[in-house]
Amino acid sequence: DDLRRAVKTTPTKTALVCWHIDGSEPDVLSYAELSRRVDRLAAGLIGLGVRPGDVVTVQLPNGWPLCALILACARAGAAVSPVLPTMRRRELEFMLGVTESPVYIGPTSWHRFDYGAMAAEVAAAVPTLRHRVLVGEDVPTDDPAVVDFYRDLYGRDRTAEFPAALLDEREAKAGDVAQVMFTSGTTGEPKGVTHTHNTLYAIDKAQADVLHLSADEVTAMGSPTTHQAGFTWNLLMPLLLGATAVQVDQWQPDLMLRILEEQKVTFFMGAPTFLADLIATQRSTGRDLSALATFATGSAPIAPVLVENAAEVLGCRVYALWGMTENGGVTITRPEDPALRAAESDGSTVPGMWVRIVDAQDQPVPAGAIGRLQCRGAGQCLGYYRRPELYAASMTADGWFDTGDLARDDGHGGVRIAGRVKDLINRGAEKIPVVEVEAALLRHPAVKEIAVVGYPDERLGERACAVVIPAETAPTLADLCGYLAETGMAKQYWPERLELVTELPKTPSGKVQKFVLREQLAGEV
Ligand code: ATP
Ligand code: MG
Repeated sequence: DDLRRAVKTTPTKTALVCWHIDGSEPDVLSYAELSRRVDRLAAGLIGLGVRPGDVVTVQLPNGWPLCALILACARAGAAVSPVLPTMRRRELEFMLGVTESPVYIGPTSWHRFDYGAMAAEVAAAVPTLRHRVLVGEDVPTDDPAVVDFYRDLYGRDRTAEFPAALLDEREAKAGDVAQVMFTSGTTGEPKGVTHTHNTLYAIDKAQADVLHLSADEVTAMGSPTTHQAGFTWNLLMPLLLGATAVQVDQWQPDLMLRILEEQKVTFFMGAPTFLADLIATQRSTGRDLSALATFATGSAPIAPVLVENAAEVLGCRVYALWGMTENGGVTITRPEDPALRAAESDGSTVPGMWVRIVDAQDQPVPAGAIGRLQCRGAGQCLGYYRRPELYAASMTADGWFDTGDLARDDGHGGVRIAGRVKDLINRGAEKIPVVEVEAALLRHPAVKEIAVVGYPDERLGERACAVVIPAETAPTLADLCGYLAETGMAKQYWPERLELVTELPKTPSGKVQKFVLREQLAGEV
């Protein structure tokens, strides 16, 4: 409906600009052109036998085919399951085993990886997969289950007629499943989060309203559109606003700064890692970022030092946001808040969502205490696809979703995320505020990256270990503790062990997998 409205009111306006890391000309699509491609692809999908209720798996880098296919699935009355291009056979088999997608769509190759070969192996293991659509050059034609995107689905001659009549009967309803998006797998097995058009709309409408965004926005993002943040902030939201979305097929801070300047991007959404990269690169490139007004960041803990540096180096206002694949953005700091609010808060709830902070018995904790963060509201997903027992385990008796995150009241009607329940370090019943310790130590000049995790201890149950990627000179444990003492942090929160590493285990979306570190530390003790 958003696309239809924009086609009616502003058909020639640019809907999408898709940049390429290889330096080739960006693809520029007006609303009318995007809509034409969506219809053509939707007819193609229906032609392949895609029916309402089916889930179509799409594993493509950012670009117009990905965006158009996401919308085409909706146009065909089906749901889309976007998969990060970095996922491999093991993950794909798992996801397709859950969704039973009849169609997989991927690139022929990307970063010298052969997706066609991977898809063939997956098809051998997952019998429900009937068609493999490959996007790119040199699609192998000897396999009847392989469909050539540019020839068979999109049409070799893109001006030729296509069976538009196939679309007549298809109309997605607001309550239909629109998306099955798998979680990052930060804490274990990914879950197939199920959203309807309604819940996705609620997420995007609330975000756009709270930040006062308009059709004049030019949005950009570092993340893949196959991730919930990219999907909601840099595809659905700009469509809803009738604005322009700029995408790039691979993260590269230099290129992104050039895009921000040349496209006069006004709104950027990105995980804290992207913010850190842009700040570091902009210090030497000095691009003109005068159009950039808003930077929304979340999906991992936001170090206060980043918020301060963004104001200074990028000249934009940072908004901190907390959300999950399960519910998009639930809390966010506001334009009405003091300028550096995002350095100390993850914001208050968006319209239509509610949160509460409770103890193990689901009773409210005293003001300022750390507790379990629970939420409910219009943007909350329906559940986990074909895993009702898993979702039911996250619901309280009175209908709240237990997020698995810890938070405390920020003292101004908002919340501050304090880490995950599973990552909590319980040092002899004393709970360590892990995120705050990490944020403090990130200001130490010898610390480039840090994760504070628990390791088993006979006497106290657990103690905290700082796993650190050093900057130029490696810190000692005494350095770090001395530094924390200076910040006035109580001694029971200081790490009692230090491990220097060159890399931290991360999900493809850049989140530290603390369970991996915990296992490693426990194994060594
Ligand atoms: P899985 O559920 O598979 O373990 P995941 O929870 O990392 O993976 P996502 O849905 O991508 O998958 O991420 C949501 C999580 O990201 C939240 O539950 C929270 O732990 C973290 N997060 C999001 N925003 C913030 C924030 N502002 N500060 C700290 N953590 C955040
Ligand atoms: Mg999660």
